[in-house]
Amino acid sequence: MPDEPAPYRGRFAPSPTGPLHFGSLVAALGSWLDARAAGGEWLVRIEDLDAPRAAPGAASDILRTLEALGLQWDGPVLRQSGRAEAYRAALDLLARTGATYPCACSRREIGDGARAGIDGGLVYPGTCRAGLPPGRAARALRVRVGNAVIRFDDAVQGGVRHVLADDVGDFVLQRADGLCAYQLAVVVDDAAQGVTDVVRGADLLDSTPRQIFLQRLLGLPTPRYLHLPVATDARGVKLSKQTGAPPIDRARPGAALAGALRFLGQRVDAELVDDRPAVLLASARARWDRASIPRARSALAPA
Ligand code: GLU
Repeated sequence: MPDEPAPYRGRFAPSPTGPLHFGSLVAALGSWLDARAAGGEWLVRIEDLDAPRAAPGAASDILRTLEALGLQWDGPVLRQSGRAEAYRAALDLLARTGATYPCACSRREIGDGARAGIDGGLVYPGTCRAGLPPGRAARALRVRVGNAVIRFDDAVQGGVRHVLADDVGDFVLQRADGLCAYQLAVVVDDAAQGVTDVVRGADLLDSTPRQIFLQRLLGLPTPRYLHLPVATDARGVKLSKQTGAPPIDRARPGAALAGALRFLGQRVDAELVDDRPAVLLASARARWDRASIPRARSALAPA
Protein backbone atom coordinates (compact mmCIF):
# COMPACT_ATOMS: atom_id res chain seq x y z
CA MET A 1 0.00 0.00 0.00
CA PRO A 2 1.43 3.42 -0.86
CA ASP A 3 2.31 5.60 2.12
CA GLU A 4 -0.40 8.06 3.04
CA PRO A 5 1.02 11.58 2.57
CA ALA A 6 1.36 13.34 5.94
CA PRO A 7 -1.51 15.78 6.38
CA TYR A 8 -0.37 19.33 5.91
CA ARG A 9 -2.18 22.51 6.80
CA GLY A 10 -0.32 25.78 6.44
CA ARG A 11 -1.33 29.39 6.87
CA PHE A 12 -0.50 32.99 6.12
CA ALA A 13 -1.25 35.35 8.99
CA PRO A 14 -0.80 38.98 7.95
CA SER A 15 -1.29 41.90 10.32
CA PRO A 16 -3.49 44.35 8.40
CA THR A 17 -1.31 47.40 8.97
CA GLY A 18 -1.18 48.21 5.25
CA PRO A 19 -1.24 46.68 1.77
CA LEU A 20 0.77 43.58 0.87
CA HIS A 21 4.36 44.56 -0.03
CA PHE A 22 7.35 42.54 -1.22
CA GLY A 23 8.25 41.40 2.31
CA SER A 24 4.80 40.11 3.16
CA LEU A 25 4.45 38.59 -0.33
CA VAL A 26 7.55 36.46 0.38
CA ALA A 27 5.83 35.01 3.47
CA ALA A 28 2.55 34.51 1.62
CA LEU A 29 4.16 32.84 -1.39
CA GLY A 30 6.61 30.72 0.65
CA SER A 31 3.85 29.37 2.86
CA TRP A 32 1.51 28.84 -0.12
CA LEU A 33 4.16 26.93 -2.11
CA ASP A 34 5.28 24.79 0.81
CA ALA A 35 1.66 23.83 1.51
CA ARG A 36 0.63 23.23 -2.10
CA ALA A 37 3.80 21.31 -2.95
CA ALA A 38 2.96 18.99 -0.04
CA GLY A 39 -0.61 18.60 -1.34
CA GLY A 40 -1.75 20.48 1.73
CA GLU A 41 -4.26 23.14 2.62
CA TRP A 42 -3.44 26.81 3.04
CA LEU A 43 -5.42 29.09 5.32
CA VAL A 44 -5.41 32.85 5.77
CA ARG A 45 -5.80 34.48 9.16
CA ILE A 46 -6.06 38.24 9.56
CA GLU A 47 -4.15 39.22 12.69
CA ASP A 48 -6.19 42.28 13.58
CA LEU A 49 -5.90 41.64 17.30
CA ASP A 50 -4.57 45.14 17.80
CA ALA A 51 -7.57 46.95 16.31
CA PRO A 52 -6.14 50.48 16.72
CA ARG A 53 -3.08 49.52 14.63
CA ALA A 54 -5.14 47.96 11.84
CA ALA A 55 -5.37 50.25 8.82
CA PRO A 56 -8.95 50.65 7.56
CA GLY A 57 -9.45 48.56 4.43
CA ALA A 58 -6.03 46.89 4.69
CA ALA A 59 -7.40 43.39 5.34
CA SER A 60 -9.64 43.37 2.26
CA ASP A 61 -6.87 44.96 0.20
CA ILE A 62 -4.45 42.17 1.20
CA LEU A 63 -7.06 39.53 0.30
CA ARG A 64 -7.69 41.16 -3.10
CA THR A 65 -3.96 41.14 -3.81
CA LEU A 66 -3.65 37.47 -2.84
CA GLU A 67 -6.51 36.69 -5.22
CA ALA A 68 -4.99 38.73 -8.04
CA LEU A 69 -1.75 36.79 -7.61
CA GLY A 70 -3.57 33.46 -7.74
CA LEU A 71 -2.77 32.64 -4.09
CA GLN A 72 -6.09 31.01 -3.36
CA TRP A 73 -6.78 30.01 0.23
CA ASP A 74 -8.95 27.25 1.68
CA GLY A 75 -11.92 27.75 3.94
CA PRO A 76 -13.08 30.92 5.64
CA VAL A 77 -10.64 33.69 6.61
CA LEU A 78 -10.26 33.80 10.39
CA ARG A 79 -10.03 37.24 12.03
CA GLN A 80 -8.42 37.64 15.41
CA SER A 81 -10.75 40.52 16.27
CA GLY A 82 -13.55 37.96 16.68
CA ARG A 83 -11.58 35.56 18.86
CA ALA A 84 -11.62 37.27 22.29
CA GLU A 85 -13.51 34.40 23.91
CA ALA A 86 -10.99 31.78 22.80
CA TYR A 87 -8.12 33.88 24.14
CA ARG A 88 -10.00 34.45 27.41
CA ALA A 89 -10.47 30.68 27.81
CA ALA A 90 -6.75 30.06 27.31
CA LEU A 91 -5.85 32.79 29.83
CA ASP A 92 -8.29 31.33 32.34
CA LEU A 93 -6.85 27.85 31.91
CA LEU A 94 -3.31 29.13 32.48
CA ALA A 95 -4.42 31.19 35.50
CA ARG A 96 -6.12 28.15 37.07
CA THR A 97 -2.90 26.16 36.88
CA GLY A 98 -0.91 29.00 38.46
CA ALA A 99 1.13 29.51 35.30
CA THR A 100 0.43 33.24 35.18
CA TYR A 101 0.62 36.14 37.62
CA PRO A 102 -0.55 39.74 37.61
CA CYS A 103 2.13 42.37 37.11
CA ALA A 104 1.93 46.03 38.09
CA CYS A 105 5.13 47.21 36.46
CA SER A 106 5.10 49.94 33.85
CA ARG A 107 7.50 49.77 30.93
CA ARG A 108 9.55 52.53 32.53
CA GLU A 109 9.87 50.66 35.82
CA ILE A 110 11.02 47.53 34.00
CA GLY A 111 13.44 49.57 31.93
CA ASP A 112 15.36 50.63 35.03
CA GLY A 113 17.95 47.93 35.37
CA ALA A 114 16.48 45.21 33.13
CA ARG A 115 18.67 43.37 30.60
CA ALA A 116 17.88 43.32 26.89
CA GLY A 117 16.57 39.95 25.73
CA ILE A 118 17.18 37.98 22.58
CA ASP A 119 14.81 39.99 20.40
CA GLY A 120 15.67 43.39 21.84
CA GLY A 121 12.82 43.35 24.37
CA LEU A 122 13.53 43.66 28.08
CA VAL A 123 13.96 40.55 30.23
CA TYR A 124 11.44 41.00 33.02
CA PRO A 125 13.35 41.07 36.34
CA GLY A 126 10.54 39.27 38.20
CA THR A 127 9.42 42.14 40.44
CA CYS A 128 5.80 40.94 40.77
CA ARG A 129 6.46 37.20 40.49
CA ALA A 130 5.88 36.53 44.19
CA GLY A 131 2.89 38.90 44.42
CA LEU A 132 1.94 42.49 43.65
CA PRO A 133 3.81 45.07 45.74
CA PRO A 134 1.52 46.62 48.40
CA GLY A 135 -0.79 49.28 47.04
CA ARG A 136 -0.15 48.44 43.39
CA ALA A 137 -2.78 47.31 40.89
CA ALA A 138 -2.35 44.70 38.17
CA ARG A 139 -1.70 46.02 34.67
CA ALA A 140 -0.67 42.95 32.72
CA LEU A 141 -0.60 39.17 33.11
CA ARG A 142 2.73 37.36 32.74
CA VAL A 143 3.57 33.70 32.40
CA ARG A 144 6.20 32.06 34.61
CA VAL A 145 8.90 30.58 32.40
CA GLY A 146 10.73 28.93 35.29
CA ASN A 147 13.73 26.96 34.06
CA ALA A 148 12.23 26.01 30.70
CA VAL A 149 14.69 25.28 27.92
CA ILE A 150 13.04 25.04 24.50
CA ARG A 151 14.70 23.44 21.49
CA PHE A 152 13.34 23.02 18.00
CA ASP A 153 14.62 22.33 14.53
CA ASP A 154 13.71 24.87 11.92
CA ALA A 155 13.51 23.49 8.38
CA VAL A 156 15.63 26.36 7.01
CA GLN A 157 17.33 28.07 9.93
CA GLY A 158 18.43 24.86 11.71
CA GLY A 159 18.51 24.17 15.44
CA VAL A 160 17.29 26.82 17.87
CA ARG A 161 17.62 26.62 21.66
CA HIS A 162 16.34 29.20 24.14
CA VAL A 163 16.70 29.31 27.89
CA LEU A 164 13.52 31.30 28.38
CA ALA A 165 14.50 32.83 31.72
CA ASP A 166 17.67 34.28 30.17
CA ASP A 167 16.45 35.00 26.67
CA VAL A 168 13.03 36.54 27.30
CA GLY A 169 12.01 36.19 30.97
CA ASP A 170 8.43 35.92 32.18
CA PHE A 171 6.57 37.37 29.22
CA VAL A 172 3.25 39.15 28.88
CA LEU A 173 0.15 37.17 27.88
CA GLN A 174 -2.40 39.88 28.56
CA ARG A 175 -1.36 43.44 27.91
CA ALA A 176 -2.06 46.47 30.04
CA ASP A 177 -4.75 47.51 27.52
CA GLY A 178 -6.51 44.19 28.18
CA LEU A 179 -5.67 42.65 24.81
CA CYS A 180 -4.29 39.16 24.48
CA ALA A 181 -0.60 39.24 23.53
CA TYR A 182 0.46 38.13 20.04
CA GLN A 183 2.38 35.10 21.39
CA LEU A 184 -0.71 33.59 22.97
CA ALA A 185 -3.16 34.53 20.21
CA VAL A 186 -1.00 32.83 17.57
CA VAL A 187 -0.74 29.64 19.63
CA VAL A 188 -4.48 29.50 20.30
CA ASP A 189 -5.34 30.23 16.66
CA ASP A 190 -2.81 27.86 15.07
CA ALA A 191 -4.23 25.07 17.24
CA ALA A 192 -7.87 26.02 16.60
CA GLN A 193 -7.20 26.02 12.85
CA GLY A 194 -5.36 22.70 12.97
CA VAL A 195 -2.18 24.20 11.50
CA THR A 196 0.54 21.57 11.10
CA ASP A 197 3.20 23.73 9.42
CA VAL A 198 4.10 27.32 10.15
CA VAL A 199 6.04 29.02 7.34
CA ARG A 200 6.76 32.69 8.08
CA GLY A 201 9.49 35.30 8.24
CA ALA A 202 12.59 34.76 10.37
CA ASP A 203 11.81 37.95 12.30
CA LEU A 204 9.58 35.56 14.26
CA LEU A 205 12.22 32.86 14.78
CA ASP A 206 12.93 34.12 18.29
CA SER A 207 9.21 34.11 19.12
CA THR A 208 8.88 30.42 18.33
CA PRO A 209 10.35 29.05 21.61
CA ARG A 210 7.82 31.15 23.55
CA GLN A 211 5.04 29.78 21.37
CA ILE A 212 6.21 26.19 21.84
CA PHE A 213 6.36 26.80 25.60
CA LEU A 214 2.73 28.01 25.56
CA GLN A 215 1.63 25.05 23.41
CA ARG A 216 3.04 22.73 26.06
CA LEU A 217 1.37 24.58 28.93
CA LEU A 218 -1.97 24.43 27.10
CA GLY A 219 -1.56 20.80 25.99
CA LEU A 220 -1.63 21.79 22.30
CA PRO A 221 0.34 20.15 19.48
CA THR A 222 3.51 21.85 18.19
CA PRO A 223 3.52 22.48 14.43
CA ARG A 224 6.62 22.10 12.25
CA TYR A 225 8.39 25.40 11.60
CA LEU A 226 10.11 26.92 8.59
CA HIS A 227 11.37 30.48 8.85
CA LEU A 228 12.07 32.29 5.59
CA PRO A 229 14.66 35.03 5.25
CA VAL A 230 13.12 38.44 5.81
CA ALA A 231 13.41 41.00 3.00
CA THR A 232 15.33 44.11 3.96
CA ASP A 233 16.17 47.45 2.36
CA ALA A 234 19.75 48.52 1.64
CA ARG A 235 20.21 49.61 5.28
CA GLY A 236 19.31 46.10 6.46
CA VAL A 237 15.93 47.21 7.82
CA LYS A 238 12.95 44.86 7.37
CA LEU A 239 10.61 46.05 4.63
CA SER A 240 7.39 47.38 6.06
CA LYS A 241 4.79 49.98 5.42
CA GLN A 242 6.54 52.16 8.01
CA THR A 243 9.80 52.08 6.03
CA GLY A 244 7.92 52.94 2.84
CA ALA A 245 7.77 49.54 1.11
CA PRO A 246 5.54 50.05 -1.95
CA PRO A 247 2.37 47.97 -2.30
CA ILE A 248 2.45 45.00 -4.69
CA ASP A 249 1.20 46.06 -8.11
CA ARG A 250 -1.86 43.88 -8.72
CA ALA A 251 -1.70 44.74 -12.42
CA ARG A 252 1.67 42.93 -12.78
CA PRO A 253 1.22 39.70 -10.81
CA GLY A 254 3.90 37.78 -12.76
CA ALA A 255 6.62 40.31 -11.99
CA ALA A 256 5.72 40.30 -8.28
CA LEU A 257 5.66 36.51 -8.06
CA ALA A 258 8.90 36.13 -10.03
CA GLY A 259 10.69 38.57 -7.71
CA ALA A 260 9.53 36.70 -4.62
CA LEU A 261 10.43 33.33 -6.14
CA ARG A 262 13.98 34.48 -6.92
CA PHE A 263 14.29 35.90 -3.41
CA LEU A 264 13.39 32.43 -2.11
CA GLY A 265 16.14 30.86 -4.24
CA GLN A 266 13.69 29.21 -6.63
CA ARG A 267 14.19 28.88 -10.36
CA VAL A 268 11.73 30.92 -12.40
CA ASP A 269 10.53 29.89 -15.82
CA ALA A 270 11.01 33.27 -17.57
CA GLU A 271 8.56 32.34 -20.35
CA LEU A 272 5.76 32.08 -17.81
CA VAL A 273 6.20 35.44 -16.10
CA ASP A 274 3.74 37.16 -18.47
CA ASP A 275 1.32 34.24 -18.45
CA ARG A 276 -1.60 33.97 -16.03
CA PRO A 277 -0.37 33.83 -12.41
CA ALA A 278 -1.93 30.37 -12.02
CA VAL A 279 0.41 29.03 -14.70
CA LEU A 280 3.54 30.51 -13.11
CA LEU A 281 2.41 29.24 -9.70
CA ALA A 282 1.79 25.73 -11.00
CA SER A 283 5.34 25.64 -12.34
CA ALA A 284 6.76 27.09 -9.11
CA ARG A 285 4.83 24.55 -7.07
CA ALA A 286 6.20 21.67 -9.13
CA ARG A 287 9.75 23.00 -8.72
CA TRP A 288 9.49 24.09 -5.08
CA ASP A 289 12.75 23.20 -3.38
CA ARG A 290 13.15 23.95 0.31
CA ALA A 291 16.88 23.24 0.11
CA SER A 292 17.35 26.24 -2.20
CA ILE A 293 15.91 28.75 0.26
CA PRO A 294 18.80 30.93 1.50
CA ARG A 295 19.73 29.87 5.03
CA ALA A 296 19.78 33.40 6.37
CA ARG A 297 17.57 35.36 8.67
CA SER A 298 17.43 38.25 6.24
CA ALA A 299 18.37 39.18 2.69
CA LEU A 300 18.28 42.28 0.54
CA ALA A 301 15.05 42.77 -1.39
CA PRO A 302 15.40 43.41 -5.15
CA ALA A 303 15.55 47.11 -5.98
N1 GLU B 1 0.96 38.68 11.98
C1 GLU B 1 2.38 38.45 11.95
C2 GLU B 1 3.02 39.42 10.98
O1 GLU B 1 2.34 39.95 10.11
C3 GLU B 1 2.76 37.06 11.55
C4 GLU B 1 2.46 36.08 12.61
C5 GLU B 1 2.82 34.65 12.30
O2 GLU B 1 3.01 34.29 11.12
O3 GLU B 1 2.88 33.87 13.25
O4 GLU B 1 4.19 39.67 11.10
